[in-house]
Amino acid sequence: MNLKSVNFKCFNLKNFHPKSLNLKTLPIWRDLVKDLRLCLVLLIVAAIIGLLSHALWPCLVIALVLFIGLQFRAFYQIYYWIRFQPEQNPPELSGVLGEILYLLYRYQRQEKQAKTELINTIARAQTSISALQDAVVLIDSKQHLEWWNPAAEQVLGLKAVDVQRPVLNIIRDPQFTHYFENLCDYPNGIKLDSWVKPQHFIQCEVTPFGDHEFLLLAYDITHLHRLEQMRTDFVANVSHELRTPLTVISGYLEMVSEQQDISTRWQRAFKQMQQQTRRMNALVNDLLLLSRLENEELINKDQVIHMASLLNELFDDAQAYNSDPNSNYGHTLNLHIESHCNLRGSKLEIASAFSNLITNAIKYTPSGGVIHIGWASDQQQGYFYVEDNGIGIEAYHIPRLTERFYRVDSARSRESGGTGLGLAIVKHVLAQHDGYLDIQSKMGQGTTFKAVLAQTRLVD
Ligand code: ADP
Repeated sequence: MNLKSVNFKCFNLKNFHPKSLNLKTLPIWRDLVKDLRLCLVLLIVAAIIGLLSHALWPCLVIALVLFIGLQFRAFYQIYYWIRFQPEQNPPELSGVLGEILYLLYRYQRQEKQAKTELINTIARAQTSISALQDAVVLIDSKQHLEWWNPAAEQVLGLKAVDVQRPVLNIIRDPQFTHYFENLCDYPNGIKLDSWVKPQHFIQCEVTPFGDHEFLLLAYDITHLHRLEQMRTDFVANVSHELRTPLTVISGYLEMVSEQQDISTRWQRAFKQMQQQTRRMNALVNDLLLLSRLENEELINKDQVIHMASLLNELFDDAQAYNSDPNSNYGHTLNLHIESHCNLRGSKLEIASAFSNLITNAIKYTPSGGVIHIGWASDQQQGYFYVEDNGIGIEAYHIPRLTERFYRVDSARSRESGGTGLGLAIVKHVLAQHDGYLDIQSKMGQGTTFKAVLAQTRLVD
């Protein structure tokens, strides 16, 4: 049988219906007819010979045995091809067995083609990944290193002998171990000091895939780190340099404005100048605080903060601010200490963040409002909250509120002496204490700012 000439028609099960069964439409029908024809020819020849030799039945039996023998021979050829010569062309057979053999051969060729395509795709993917500057490492379900590109050797210092070794034995940084074991807590990956090149930094991102396997991406971010450091240093230096001139200016302004013999016009001018220098001072202080927060080493985050006394101190300051005769706030302030837990962190920074939230509530609530300040905790977290019934914030502002200098209403913020840095400071302080800020607000009804702190920071 010439394999190329076989016209294979697909038997579509969707069109199959027992009532409309017509043998002639079966794709194998033609081959079945061939087999039957061969059987018939053999029987006719045997019958003729049998009639002539007066041995009809023996001749018919011999013909049948011959037919069955031919079928067995075909079976054996198929078996021999599959067993010993699957790479070569199959034997040429006719009839039903020929058709079955052809289907097998076609299936085998398709499989081979798919396999070749897959191998080519994998090879192409590997070549392109190998050309990357970033390290790419495949980690199997047992957390063993499986494959990596050449860049991984530069960035992570992997060596050929490390293959099949546990990733945590090769990357021994405790921060990486914590990251790898708690991937959900680090949606943006982790920044690590390079153990290959001193004074270099790498960003690692691990993504789970497949059957508990992992893809580790790592790249050198030293350049970015230096730029970031330059920016932080610049802001810190400028703020620091501005401090002395500001102190001198405000000192002289105070001295001059206290003089009795200056006209009312000048008095007003000096008052405005003093207001603006106070704002600049607040701005400089906030910028310096932000710079300090960015430099983690400067902050001792392991002090035990006695929350009840801290909240009482903040509450007293809030009462004083609220009853400032110049501002005319006149709110009702309530303090709720619902948890006996204390907090482990930096007292100065935590006090500054909580105080920002309280001051904002007082500033952005129209006179005579009600403000609740509280501290609570449950099995998972600790919560410091400030709830006001003030102007509220439209939902689309909320995701951007903690950006530096983002204000909902710039004029109102400036008027109330705001620097636009308060919530950015709160966000940084909370991040430093494994926490985050939750903001819920309804326009015209009020806002609740909730500082959520991890259970690991709570002290019983
Ligand atoms: P600012 O110094 O301007 O107050 P913040 O970073 O503290 O800067 O706050 C950012 C903006 O968020 C504010 O300008 C204000 O529009 C809005 N905001 C903050 N707290 C409240 C609040 N309790 N109610 C309404 N708006 C608020």
